[in-house]
Amino acid sequence: MAKVAIVGVPWDEQSSFARGAALGPAAIRAAMRSASSNLSTESGLDLGDEPRLTDAGDVEVPSGAAAPAAIEGSVRDVLASGARVLALGGDHAVTYPVVRAHAGRYPGLSVVHLDAHPDLYDVFEGNRLSHACPFARILEEGLARRLVQVGIRTQNAPQREQAARFGVEQVDMRGWRPDLAVEADGPVYVSVDLDVLDPAFAPGVSHPEPGGLSTRDVVGFLQRLRGRVVGADVVELNPARDVADATARVAAKVAKELLARLLSE
Ligand code: MN
Ligand code: MN
Repeated sequence: MAKVAIVGVPWDEQSSFARGAALGPAAIRAAMRSASSNLSTESGLDLGDEPRLTDAGDVEVPSGAAAPAAIEGSVRDVLASGARVLALGGDHAVTYPVVRAHAGRYPGLSVVHLDAHPDLYDVFEGNRLSHACPFARILEEGLARRLVQVGIRTQNAPQREQAARFGVEQVDMRGWRPDLAVEADGPVYVSVDLDVLDPAFAPGVSHPEPGGLSTRDVVGFLQRLRGRVVGADVVELNPARDVADATARVAAKVAKELLARLLSE
């Protein structure tokens, strides 16, 4: 039985500015498999020869209002098999149904969220399921005991009010330190929006925001994170905006390091 399953979620209907993230899962898998590298993690795990790892393929996401339930149901089925999930987005709207599936299995879940944006809008352009809203949905439903956001660097008044209302812990870019280590008790879900990286490292996203983290910063943060990582996602790769597959390679690197955490705890 697999300990960890990769699940693609090719869904970008909730993107407010540019579509394209639905092509993310295929691009991340291609970068992981590229012969220009190999599947070893920095801890020495060879993911290309790892019987505890499987690829469950992509969720068949229907268009329209049925999508979130389909995503949640598919992830719940994988979790019921006993495997942990690394979800590949898709835009950040995928995180709400994916975390919803996890909350049912892991009471007391903490969420660690890397992003340039807090994604805490109650409603964005009339849409409560927008990729600008997933963490408002997660918190108002009590799906997470704790939300820690890292890398935030553009937050307006409505989002600050939401962060205060829900007791969100934020380490914004002004507070970033290269040795930052977040600690969490109980099960931890990690959500990585690739726009947490500076556009110099990850140009292939729909909302590039200068002043962000390096690839090394993100990899080191994930390695130093203290807690039992039981689920994760990598979202917001937009291959239509990528340059020489650079962002897909970063996404693959981040995915590999998350897989190392998921396999080792
Ligand atoms: Mn986001
Ligand atoms: Mn973002």
